[in-house]
Amino acid sequence: MVDDSRGIRLAIGGILKSLGMSISEAADGQEALDSLSSEGLPDAILLDWNMPVMNGIEFLKEFRADAVNAACPVIMVTTNSDFENITEALSAGANEYVMKPFDKEMLFGKLDALGVHA
Ligand SMILES: [Mg+2]
Repeated sequence: MVDDSRGIRLAIGGILKSLGMSISEAADGQEALDSLSSEGLPDAILLDWNMPVMNGIEFLKEFRADAVNAACPVIMVTTNSDFENITEALSAGANEYVMKPFDKEMLFGKLDALGVHA
């Protein structure tokens, strides 16, 4: 999970743990790229859009530029809800899109749709 808000990381972390999943956190895109290179690929990435240092779209473009990452699902979790934002994220390689505020059912539904289970 990549989000600059500690509160959001706690909220999503709590939901994923309640679904029996383990999580790894990063506060921006660069931190996420660094931990991916040391920890390897997760089953899925939940990605905020607006973050300092490297935002979600910048991260997504870097991440998808490496074919090794092609099969890893990315879910954008963001307040950016304009049609153009959604289109931009999907064309940059996001698999799903969740608007903040979200709840457990919404997150579970998206993960389930992508075949990501505990
Ligand atoms: Mg943010």
